[in-house]
Amino acid sequence: MLTQIQGLHHVTSIASGAQENSDFFTKILGLRRVKKTVNFDAPQVYHLYYGDETGSPGTVMTYFPFPRSRRGRAGAGEVSVTAFAAPTGSLPWWAERFATFGVKGVKPETRLGENRLRFDGPDGDGFALVETAQDSRTPWTGNGVPADVAIRGFHSADMRLQDRGATAELLRFMGYSEADKQGSVTRFIREGGNDANRIDIETLPLLTPADQGAGSVHHIAFAVADRAAQLAVRKGLMDTGWQVTPVIDRDYFWAIYFRTPGGVLFEIATNEPGFNRDEDTASLGQALKLPAQHEHLRGALETRYLEPIVD
Ligand code: ZN
Repeated sequence: MLTQIQGLHHVTSIASGAQENSDFFTKILGLRRVKKTVNFDAPQVYHLYYGDETGSPGTVMTYFPFPRSRRGRAGAGEVSVTAFAAPTGSLPWWAERFATFGVKGVKPETRLGENRLRFDGPDGDGFALVETAQDSRTPWTGNGVPADVAIRGFHSADMRLQDRGATAELLRFMGYSEADKQGSVTRFIREGGNDANRIDIETLPLLTPADQGAGSVHHIAFAVADRAAQLAVRKGLMDTGWQVTPVIDRDYFWAIYFRTPGGVLFEIATNEPGFNRDEDTASLGQALKLPAQHEHLRGALETRYLEPIVD
């Protein structure tokens, strides 16, 4: 069993519009945009990152906004809901805020004894806020979201699968253990991990497969401390028969990827070097930052491909 994985690092999804996406995460959810860069594999598309002050691992929601992308269809084999942790008692405040801003899909729920508020992102993305009593993370505040209600970072990610067997086995190998169960939902926890250390698997054998598009999660990334831990995880996965990519430099972390049996793409990302690698913490997320290999495209990207984002 692996011991290096700490919990979630980031969740990456697809959007249809950069401006609407940025407005939703900063002006409604009150997160901080911590990086404005491009998809390193398709630099004509933004890669936008939202999180706490520094984009700490376990807080970072990221997006590839493909302009006018068609909407995905929810189904099996994907992350169906990304859940953020919010303080106990904060959900009525959020419900009122969502009503003010016209957020869709708002619905209170309880799961495994926790109060949740489901809501949709701008492209129908599945989100929830979960009241979490024990969470020591310092939230980013502003845009009318005070500290006593502000999002702390991720609580969990829900995977919706036709069959959970092989994915559950993989999670156990990654250091997670089965912690609780309610109906079709099984919760896995990485004991001793970071605050974003929960994965819920919802098993729905008859659900048709998801079709990826705007509003769909593209992949979820798990955190490891550094490159040495990442290499150990890569070796452990490959020794167990998983097909894992080589280590890829994403400037703000190092990444490896592998496709899980249930269909969800997993990434393992390092906590180093972080988002203040190429700009000061005070000004994170404002300027367009390009990786060295795409810097020569800056003129074309800024004038022709990337819509300006007004904050
Ligand atoms: Zn990623």
